[in-house]
Amino acid sequence: MEQRHEARRLEVNGIVQGVGFRPFVFQLAARCGLKGEVANTSAGVSIHIEGAPESIRHFERELSQSPPPLARIVAIVSRPAPPGHYPDFRIAHSRGESAMATLISPDVAVCGDCLAEMFDPAERRFRYPFINCTNCGPRYTIIDDIPYDRPKTSMRHFAMCARCRAEYEDPLNRRFHAQPNACPACGPQVSLWDDRGNEINSEDPIRQAAELIRQGRILAVKGLGGYHLAVDALQPAAVARLRRRKLREEKPFAVMSPDIAAIRAYARLGPEEEALLASIQRPIVLLAKADPFALAAEVAPGNRFIGALLPYTPLHHLLLAEGFTALVMTSGNLSEEPIAIDNADAFARLAGIADNFLDHNREIYLRSDDSVLRRAAGETRFLRRSRGYVPVPVFLKRPLPPVLACGAELKSTVCLTKGSQAFLSQHIGDLENLATYEFFQQTIAHMQRILGLRPELIACDLHPDYLSTRWAREQTGAAVIAVQHHHAHIVSAMAERGIAGPVIGVACDGTGYGPDATVWGGEVLVADEGGFERAAHLACVPMPGSAAAIKEPWRMAVSYLQDAYGDAWPDLGLPFLEQAGASNVRIIREMIAKRVNSPLTSSLGRLFDGVAALAGMRSRVNYEGQAAMELEMAAAGEAEQSYEFALEDGVPIRILPAPIIRGVVEELARRVPLPVIGARFHHTVVQVFAEVCARIGRERGLKRVVLSGGVFQNARLLAGLIPALEARGFEVYSHRLVPTNDGGIALGQAVAAAAQLKKA
Ligand SMILES: [Zn+2]
Ligand SMILES: [Zn+2]
Ligand SMILES: [Zn+2]
Repeated sequence: MEQRHEARRLEVNGIVQGVGFRPFVFQLAARCGLKGEVANTSAGVSIHIEGAPESIRHFERELSQSPPPLARIVAIVSRPAPPGHYPDFRIAHSRGESAMATLISPDVAVCGDCLAEMFDPAERRFRYPFINCTNCGPRYTIIDDIPYDRPKTSMRHFAMCARCRAEYEDPLNRRFHAQPNACPACGPQVSLWDDRGNEINSEDPIRQAAELIRQGRILAVKGLGGYHLAVDALQPAAVARLRRRKLREEKPFAVMSPDIAAIRAYARLGPEEEALLASIQRPIVLLAKADPFALAAEVAPGNRFIGALLPYTPLHHLLLAEGFTALVMTSGNLSEEPIAIDNADAFARLAGIADNFLDHNREIYLRSDDSVLRRAAGETRFLRRSRGYVPVPVFLKRPLPPVLACGAELKSTVCLTKGSQAFLSQHIGDLENLATYEFFQQTIAHMQRILGLRPELIACDLHPDYLSTRWAREQTGAAVIAVQHHHAHIVSAMAERGIAGPVIGVACDGTGYGPDATVWGGEVLVADEGGFERAAHLACVPMPGSAAAIKEPWRMAVSYLQDAYGDAWPDLGLPFLEQAGASNVRIIREMIAKRVNSPLTSSLGRLFDGVAALAGMRSRVNYEGQAAMELEMAAAGEAEQSYEFALEDGVPIRILPAPIIRGVVEELARRVPLPVIGARFHHTVVQVFAEVCARIGRERGLKRVVLSGGVFQNARLLAGLIPALEARGFEVYSHRLVPTNDGGIALGQAVAAAAQLKKA
């Protein structure tokens, strides 16, 4: 009896190399009783299978539904093929010159198999902190060129021993072609140092490092994408000392705990947060603090939230297993500088902060900070997209020419496009110092190299003085297009959600350069990818002292009072005015009246700052957005009422802040509790933007609203505005794949610039 026989060729694209894909295919084919072969190609993986048709269906289903953990399949193209009469199924030699088109995996947390092995005294990798396999370990941070092979990684300095080599070459071993494969006999080693650069001889440097932390010392720990500074989060004095030395007065520290149970001692978490914490990306997840809070108050002073994460390198697991509830794990840098990655650099820069160094000799080629996420309005949202997620691309609707987008200034990231894939870089930082600027340039060069790409078009912000803009203007060989900041925000959300314009774009933001030379940030645009029209904005007020008004929100409060009451203020009885001092207030009022160093702004971020200062919450901030964040945290309960607000018709519509400010001042005078005022203010902002969108939607016949900009990190605002817009019949789109803050803006710049080029 003749058995039915079929042959097919499958081309698989995506992250399918260096992630154990071929052994997985080999084993799957064996389970299905199929013959043929699998090979890496320049575009991904090519599979020839033949056998019974049902078995082939089963194979295809399993391939797409349960690939290895690190694989990301973008597309599988399956075609009939002539039978090859294979005697068995085999892994063939790689075809194609290079792996130019294949995707590089991000760095991921050590897997369960490797962990079990590391804690088993019978194994040769018992307590070996560089254990890994094809399902786990470093990738992006150890590569300096493609194709992804050991000689192109920082593992090139370690020759595999015979036993490691045998694993590496065995298709059935989970270390088959695991490029960072190593063991204590042949791989990297840890070492412990004091702050003068003397090595401390130790039988077990990790145990001894743990002991030093228990004694209250500050330890610099070399990780996957850079150094962390670690202290015991239960010791107030140690945490306070780290704050002083790091020049970081109030910004909350993230903490690492051995497991979810330990996190429950200090934070509240639901099933979504648990899944996020335990995911292979191992991000920092922002959680509501538990009451009582089991950690030192100094970890996150004056904050209702705490950022927590689980161990992701084998070294972290060994350290945390020494009995800690939580370690502060903050980036190894001085405030504002990039995280240290190089051993010598780390000593030079961290010697004044760390008491000891737990180091190792596997180099980090590209720094990558921890990613930060939170749950808001029913979705997972990125505050910072970096380690674990980079370089996974955002998949676009349409292919673009190669574009390099340079981002803005704060929370800088860059973006490179290749076909319909947009590669957003890891977090670079605030482009305000030379060290960060150098990292920005390194990142661009590195990404171009590993993507094998030369941009034809460079996109930048409209702000002429941003370092990123200046860099773009200095380049030759590519056209340069500047994209307005808030247009880029809106297009960024459109791109990741796969929608094209026209849409109503609500950009609620801190600072962005407007083409009319005012500072924008409370904008409603009618936009498509290639252009926009300003349909509404917050009416402008002066920013007395320009950048100083961002650092000192009380100045903004004075400006809003002046706007609301004119020159003759009633006796407002606001404590913040007394605190600021009568003469200071007078100077600011004069600056406003005479327009001395007082650019106009329509920023919603500044309105939040101003209201927080009015309410006496904060006159000065230690980091950008702190006052606005505290206003969000202070708000409690549902607000039924909003403050009065006024819209001045015209094109654009102007949203007048004066009635809102008067409403807040009256309630402050009546001693209405702050949580009520905070809730009402948020509710007012929701009503304002919902109403403005309703008007614009009616006039223009638009049904879709896109939300973007840094102010939407505010979960209360986002969770309020989405249903308010939906209730008015809108489809609402907000960010899910990239940050709503300036860390996501490069994506929008790339897509907007490409669209403008096409139009031109
Ligand atoms: Zn593993
Ligand atoms: Zn070895
Ligand atoms: Zn922005």
